[in-house]
Amino acid sequence: MPETPQEVLKLIKDNNIQIIDLKFIDMPGIWQHCSFYYDQIDESSFSDGVPFDGSSIRGWKAINESDMSMVPDPTTAWIDPFFAEPTLSMICSIKEPRTGEWYSRDPRSIAAKAVDYLRSTGLGDTAFFGPEAEFFVFDDVRFDQAENKSYYYVDSVEGRWNSGKEEAGGNLGYKPRYKEGYFPVPPTDTIQDMRTEMLLTMGKCGVPIEKHHHEVATGGQNELGIRFDTLIKSADNLMIYKYVIKNVAKKYGKTVTFMPKPLFNDNGSGMHTHQSIWNNGQPLFWGDGYANLSKMALNYIGGLLRHAPALLALTNPTTNSYKRLVPGFEAPVNLAYSQGNRSASIRIPLSGTNPKAKRLEFRCPDATCNPYLAFAAMLCAGIDGIKNEIDPGEPLDVDIYDLSPEELSKVPSTPGSLEAALENLEKDHSFLTDSGVFTEDFIENWIEYKLDNEVNPMRLRPHPYEFALYYDV
Ligand code: GLN
Ligand code: MG
Ligand code: MG
Ligand code: MG
Repeated sequence: MPETPQEVLKLIKDNNIQIIDLKFIDMPGIWQHCSFYYDQIDESSFSDGVPFDGSSIRGWKAINESDMSMVPDPTTAWIDPFFAEPTLSMICSIKEPRTGEWYSRDPRSIAAKAVDYLRSTGLGDTAFFGPEAEFFVFDDVRFDQAENKSYYYVDSVEGRWNSGKEEAGGNLGYKPRYKEGYFPVPPTDTIQDMRTEMLLTMGKCGVPIEKHHHEVATGGQNELGIRFDTLIKSADNLMIYKYVIKNVAKKYGKTVTFMPKPLFNDNGSGMHTHQSIWNNGQPLFWGDGYANLSKMALNYIGGLLRHAPALLALTNPTTNSYKRLVPGFEAPVNLAYSQGNRSASIRIPLSGTNPKAKRLEFRCPDATCNPYLAFAAMLCAGIDGIKNEIDPGEPLDVDIYDLSPEELSKVPSTPGSLEAALENLEKDHSFLTDSGVFTEDFIENWIEYKLDNEVNPMRLRPHPYEFALYYDV
């Protein structure tokens, strides 16, 4: 894999590549891209970037100050497998062409600032993140509608959701019952070949691959395992992960959704995120505290739990996120930590006696987050915990779902809605902004964007279930 601009340019020349596709992440977390004939990219592109119109990107610039530059990171070069012509792809960060500074609303630049911030504290030099993003594969509505076989019809323009006609066919006889998808062999599991192709394809794109399996929900929920990596690398890998999964599914005439709770009454899709801090190649989360955690790790947990009510506005940033965070579906509801206990929002995986494997798993996040923002924010919360020696309290080594209402009332819970999380973020964000990782402008803009574009539009629309409840009143 190339590391420098010169190596990328040589790779392009040696392989006779004609098209360079530059990708960057927008604020809500979707990749945008623009393709260039190879002679448009030279060494200066890697420092000054390539111009584009920032005013058309959601949540960014006003029309009168719209010029921006995308600056490719040469260490991210990979061959995009979804185009007919050999196409070299790179992931970009965004610069202000006028000042030459990284754009303060660019998520990838915010992530870079979080890494710099960790180093500046002297606490460690590397933060590792390992996300486990779950997703559903559904029949492609447009594809199947022609056949009159659709189960879901999602009209994304009108924001309407309709259930279509259910017809016999496919694999309905062996379809896993709700919460029983983990993980019978075929013919119950119908997605093996597709998942294998997804995993191998992302491996070819440079993502370190580990495993794949069906997940707990009824037919169609899956998870692929990729190796943990440094903060930005892991966020880059997650973007390739989502891109490959969606595009391989499309080849099979299917669609994929990472939305956290597409099906009522069945497991939702989370993005548990494993985290640890290292210095000079040495793991710092191993120690002689609870579950072989170091004091640093326990304080990091303290920071995550203290700030979780606000943090979730970035790690669980959609209205749908909060339909997943309810009891009974392996999703965390209570802000507590525990070894091996999947009902706690922070789990300490049993990792034997290898200090290098010592980490925590924050189970709240879901894959509708922007991973650069979510990882940066979690790291800031953890650092705040370490710096202020925040005590995480006692671990909860019981099934939290089984606690009596009285016992339960002592355990703080995750916010009930995106609106509540945004209100918490409004009140508690100095752990993000004091270090300069996030600007006040970013936080204000995020809250306003989410209220105007998601919370309020949802509130204004009659919900299908309201018809069931009220139509005959
Ligand atoms: N789907 C569950 C969640 O929402 C997790 C299930 C699992 O990976 N054990 O977090
Ligand atoms: Mg997993
Ligand atoms: Mg899982
Ligand atoms: Mg997990």
